[in-house]
Amino acid sequence: MYQPDSAPLSSLSFDNRFTRELPADPQPDNHRRQVRWACYSRVQPTPVAKPRLLAWSPEAAALLDLSEADCRSPLFTEVFAGNRLLPGMDPFAMRYGGHQFGSWAGQLGDGRAINLGEVVNRRGERWTLQLKGAGPTPYSRRADGLAVLRSSLREFLCSEAMHHLGVPTTRALSLITTGETVLRDMFYDGNPRQEPGAVVCRLAPSFLRFGNFEILAASDEGDLLRRLLDNSISTDFPHLGPPGEESYQNWFAEICRRTASMVVHWQRVGFVHGVMNTDNMSVLGLTIDYGPYGWLDDYNPDWTPNTTDAEGRRYRYGNQPAIAGWNLLQLGNALYTLTGRAEPLQEALGQYHAAVEEEMQAMLAAKLGLSGPSSEADTALGEELLAILTLAETDMTIFFRRLSRLPDDAQAEEAAGPPAVLADAWYRPEQLDAAYLDRLRRWLAAYRRRLQGDRLPAVERQTRMDRTNPKYVLRNSLAQQAIERAEQGDAGMVEELLDLLRHPYDEQPEREHFFAKRPEWARNRPGCSMLSCSS
Ligand code: AMP
Ligand code: MG
Repeated sequence: MYQPDSAPLSSLSFDNRFTRELPADPQPDNHRRQVRWACYSRVQPTPVAKPRLLAWSPEAAALLDLSEADCRSPLFTEVFAGNRLLPGMDPFAMRYGGHQFGSWAGQLGDGRAINLGEVVNRRGERWTLQLKGAGPTPYSRRADGLAVLRSSLREFLCSEAMHHLGVPTTRALSLITTGETVLRDMFYDGNPRQEPGAVVCRLAPSFLRFGNFEILAASDEGDLLRRLLDNSISTDFPHLGPPGEESYQNWFAEICRRTASMVVHWQRVGFVHGVMNTDNMSVLGLTIDYGPYGWLDDYNPDWTPNTTDAEGRRYRYGNQPAIAGWNLLQLGNALYTLTGRAEPLQEALGQYHAAVEEEMQAMLAAKLGLSGPSSEADTALGEELLAILTLAETDMTIFFRRLSRLPDDAQAEEAAGPPAVLADAWYRPEQLDAAYLDRLRRWLAAYRRRLQGDRLPAVERQTRMDRTNPKYVLRNSLAQQAIERAEQGDAGMVEELLDLLRHPYDEQPEREHFFAKRPEWARNRPGCSMLSCSS
């Protein structure tokens, strides 16, 4: 039983600005509907039969000043499964719309996410708590408001892995199985099955998406658009000064900058979001809504993990920077309905494209360990490497990580084949024909010449490169193995991966087996190379 004095969990300090400052949907009941003149609808999580804490993140818990004992308490599991509320919680689902696959989709909203409230921690930081999979809301449309274990586990692990990689992201506090099953047709092919249900608790300073603003512009609710914008600025962008014409433009410009930085990080680590609809774009520039995402094993700019996207490949790895720009344009259009001034918005968008280009070049130079002022020759060097990587199936993570171990001079050895330190990176050695090897050798020679010009000690360069090129990422096949074990009731691999990915840039000799190419069984396996939105 819950003891009021047993844990500080019960004394989390809530300051619910969003619900306090913005208008609620007046209808209190939980039926599916179109909502107008409101930013959110109050709704209670649906209690579940038998919640069990599968995993939790100590680093995310620390953001709420929660100790290990708090997280292990029965109250924690009850609260973050949605079975009970803490004093100060005021649960609600947000109203938003979005452009999905390039078309305006109208009202979407938190169909299976329920915000519990905004915690202010001891350091004065604001963290909104949000349950995903805690039952239907007025925005659930025809779906059930639930989430299955496989997708919840993927979200839980990837959020924390991205954080430790230094990629801006929403966080994940807990992964709880519900003891109930959920019916899912994973590939929409008429083969539904009952799967274990789960709830993840996510944390972010704010979960506002581009779509929260778009819906208000699209439905001509200009007053509300202004109020939402004012709330966003005063809560999450206070450094922009008081809300008004000038700070509105600066808000958009900052979102452009943050989005550029986020996307360049994705490109650096080989992350493919998979559903970059505008309802999945955070105005804080955080990676949000981990669904059919994937990690590049072999470097392939055309790859998309999402089967729904297989045809148009809109959300393929190489297209992410362009799509983020397109999404920003939609947000800019929404803002234009308020400000009526296109010029500053266009300028910010222009800066987005310039920033992406510049940061992509700097990122690639860092992956290659180039220091000193960058030049056009460096850009050409980087581009030639990326072209080579697409010619033969090459593991992106292994290739870049090992590149820092390239000996200064190994021309004799390389006459016969690829450098030994890189040999593990190729999936199909038979693809390395004479023409390929010749092109690679020429590139390596140019690369070595460039490095010699830097006069940086090799050890120093290796240390720098190792901070940019992760050794361990959440490969799709690793997540899939953890899922299969968790579905059998064994969360051991979730723990192990959480721990591994806590230090993605460090050598972890005892875990070298996780630094390996995608296994052959995962090449065409659902959950590894093919993911769907059914989650
Ligand atoms: P996504 O593309 O997965 O981010 O989801 C698009 C929209 O569908 C959002 O409004 C989600 O809240 C909603 N949605 C996705 N899955 C479910 C579900 N199982 N139940 C209710 N709404 C859902
Ligand atoms: Mg979404």
